[in-house]
Amino acid sequence: MNNFTFHHKVLANENRLKAIVGTGRALFIDRDGTLIINRDYLDDPDGVELLPGTIEGLLRFQQSGYALIMISNQSGIGRGYFDLAAAQDVNARLQSLLKEGGAPLDALAFCPHAPSEMCPCRKPKSLMIDELAQLLSVNHATSLMIGDSHVDTGAGRAAGIQTIFLGSEDNCPEDADSTVSSLPEAADILELL
Ligand SMILES: [Zn+2]
Repeated sequence: MNNFTFHHKVLANENRLKAIVGTGRALFIDRDGTLIINRDYLDDPDGVELLPGTIEGLLRFQQSGYALIMISNQSGIGRGYFDLAAAQDVNARLQSLLKEGGAPLDALAFCPHAPSEMCPCRKPKSLMIDELAQLLSVNHATSLMIGDSHVDTGAGRAAGIQTIFLGSEDNCPEDADSTVSSLPEAADILELL
């Protein structure tokens, strides 16, 4: 038995949700170092800066019928570096930038726990992916997890979905099904629009 919960929010409107359930496809995507420039324990919305290719890549997944679902570890909360509201402000800033680009997230989830808490949600565990997949009727066979860390590919592998590592071949984790250097390149290898 445990008392751990992670934070999650569905942001998509009703029409978009219908489309997602219709395709069953989801792109689970890490935040820091994948959607935005990685700044350790980011707690300031002004520090949110999209990585090159984030909008283009998300648009291609979105147009190919994928739900866009952020899955993030935010242990800065559990470690006492910043509070929940700060993490939510950073996420809101991210969503507003993505919205401007026409590619808003459909849902987001983050784990607020420190590693020492041994929670069931922190990546590389797959609880956040598992629960969001269930919530949005996502089909594991046609979904994937992308991120710049072995904890991302680890979580994707644990959830039984395809994994894509964003980074260099030299650092590619064993449980990555493929490696790309940008989000649009991930859309390329999947031959999306
Ligand atoms: Zn957790």
